[in-house]
Amino acid sequence: MTGLSDSFQRPINYLRISVTDRCNLRCIYCMPAEGVCLMPHDAILTYEEIYTIVQAAAELGIDKVRLTGGEPLLRAGLPKLVQMLSQIEAINDISLTTNGTLLSRYAAELKQAGLQRVNVSLDTLKQDKFKFITRSDNNLDDVLKGIEVAKSVGLNPVKINMVVMAGINDDELLDFATKTINEEWHVRFIELMLPAGASTTASQFVSASDMRKRLELLGELQPCLPSVGNGPAKYFRFPHTRGTTGFITPASEHFCFRCNRLRLTSDGKLRLCLLSEDEIDLKQPLRSGISSVVLKQLIVEAVARKPLRHQLVEGYMPKDRPFSQVGG
Ligand code: SAM
Repeated sequence: MTGLSDSFQRPINYLRISVTDRCNLRCIYCMPAEGVCLMPHDAILTYEEIYTIVQAAAELGIDKVRLTGGEPLLRAGLPKLVQMLSQIEAINDISLTTNGTLLSRYAAELKQAGLQRVNVSLDTLKQDKFKFITRSDNNLDDVLKGIEVAKSVGLNPVKINMVVMAGINDDELLDFATKTINEEWHVRFIELMLPAGASTTASQFVSASDMRKRLELLGELQPCLPSVGNGPAKYFRFPHTRGTTGFITPASEHFCFRCNRLRLTSDGKLRLCLLSEDEIDLKQPLRSGISSVVLKQLIVEAVARKPLRHQLVEGYMPKDRPFSQVGG
């Protein structure tokens, strides 16, 4: 294995896989409330097709995969996919991003199938606000229970992702940070983006530097290393705590120069950047019976097209798909 790198010599070893475009929530910052156009089932990659793509990517140098969506736990038999992917020798890290509503039900089975860790998207600790943000009748308690069950079965670490929105949930910054102190939570505060279909506005943006100033009411935030992975977040801790506080700054400080990822959409397109519309179709070639050599060639050619950086800082957002189809 020689390793995969793009035309800017960035090593590419991480594939995020959206296993479904369906979601049981309609978060205000992610999807429209209604009128979401869903793909027909046969447009979505089968588990066998995902396996074939990951196998080829692994032979090229991908060693980490993350399952996401839509809501990945809505896809029937997800532990089976985890189990299939865990058989690929070069894949040494399998993780999941979920809204947590179904996590308590599946955490043990997923762990047993080979899942290592999980990120849970959670934007509020208040039930009424949970309903407002997610525009659903789901219960916050189910998510909190999912987090506890995930920890108890040994999914480690469990990271909590909070998209911070001014006037909506920024009053809870300290509550989430307190969880890093009292309950050893690993919280990542994410700057709001404004994708196609979202109901949020630019006035709700809070920069990570602003968040950080407000959090330091609780004490000094000391830089630290991530407990696992080398993703885009910058990590800190309050003194004498084991939990961590991370910031993900797609808007105020892009991290493209160390981007190591590709995305596979639920309908089988290799997307080179969350915030760029360029995609290479793998599904049709796969369904027409291409060899693994040709599949690998397609992946290599796609990687060569990976853009240097996204244009979010200049105000550009792709309009082609909601994040629910690309995997957020
Ligand atoms: N359903 C799963 C979940 O809720 O985690 C996975 C899909 S969701 C699209 C993946 C991630 O994208 C979540 O962590 C979410 O917070 C993030 N995300 C979605 N829309 C966003 C936005 N407008 N700005 C920043 N992050 C966003």
